[in-house]
Amino acid sequence: MEIESLIRKNIRELKPYRCARDEYEDMDAVFLDANESPFENGFNRYPDPYQRCLKFILADFKQVAAENVILGNGSDELIDLLIRSLCRPGIDNIIVFSPGYTMYEVCAAINDVEVRKINLTVNFLPDWRKVEQQRDCCTKIIFLCTPHNPVGNIIPLSDIENLCKVSDCMVVVDEAYIDFTDMPSAIGLLERYENLFVLQTLSKAWGMAGLRLGMGFANEKLIAVLNRVKPPYNIGVLAQQTAVRTLKDRDGFRNNVACIRRERERLLQAFLQSGIFEKVYPSEANFILVTSPQADELYRFLLRNGIVTRLRDIPPLLTGGIRITVGNREENDRLLGLLACWTNKLYPSE
Ligand code: PMP
Repeated sequence: MEIESLIRKNIRELKPYRCARDEYEDMDAVFLDANESPFENGFNRYPDPYQRCLKFILADFKQVAAENVILGNGSDELIDLLIRSLCRPGIDNIIVFSPGYTMYEVCAAINDVEVRKINLTVNFLPDWRKVEQQRDCCTKIIFLCTPHNPVGNIIPLSDIENLCKVSDCMVVVDEAYIDFTDMPSAIGLLERYENLFVLQTLSKAWGMAGLRLGMGFANEKLIAVLNRVKPPYNIGVLAQQTAVRTLKDRDGFRNNVACIRRERERLLQAFLQSGIFEKVYPSEANFILVTSPQADELYRFLLRNGIVTRLRDIPPLLTGGIRITVGNREENDRLLGLLACWTNKLYPSE
């Protein structure tokens, strides 16, 4: 399969906007080309449109070439970029799974692209036969999410590889929560499959959700096309600099991840022992999904007492779900304290 054939014709032929800074970025010169303010304050100049310094660090960290990396204003921007670049409005379609991260279908709807939604199996895994039934010549992207949001389970890498092999469309593997698991990333498959796009983010384990930095890893031909489509200055100067600084603290990162994983185990055991929940799903991410017939009341009880969780009611597979992010020790203690009150029918705020 030629990757070019997946890209919309108008995008393949696009003459991109040329930023003022494209050619002379590294020159020691007087810049009178971009109508910027000449008064230095650390961010009076436009940022590097290709985020070279940050990309260099990330490429090294992820063991890929910088040409295989694209950065977005959050990975949400990259989801939109992919759909816009590959799918012809009103003609093409994408395949997503339910329950799942809903941004894929929102981006598709914005771009007038059909969404083919397939229910996961009872074990919350994709049913590959159903994918084959739904996939046609206008299917441009299949979105997978592993570790899965909102369940927290993993899709085996061998299944992902097989899907890349048999599909003549793009396979996007959203690994937003990959840093919380020992399972290997699909990045290792990139050399073999041109139709694979791996999505990661600095918003979760790296603690930079407020900076808005998403990462895409893929074949260099596709990355080159996406670079032409993205807004030229999509990542600000301060976000780039702060990320470069934060990424140097690998020990801090490892400690934080270890802490979340310890707390995840503690919460999991406490949830199981509480007897409150119908189901408590083991998780490879930084959240735990639980279900209860009283989900709505419990959710509102927690809310009244200052803890915000996320209701996930996505029938037919997931009813009465609450997705609970793993917080720090104190936050989790507070949650467990409230759950104990709930069990004992003691309602503090009432
Ligand atoms: N993918 C998944 C599965 C997510 O859960 C999220 C965030 N909730 C994102 C992508 C978007 O992350 P970002 O902050 O990088 O836009």
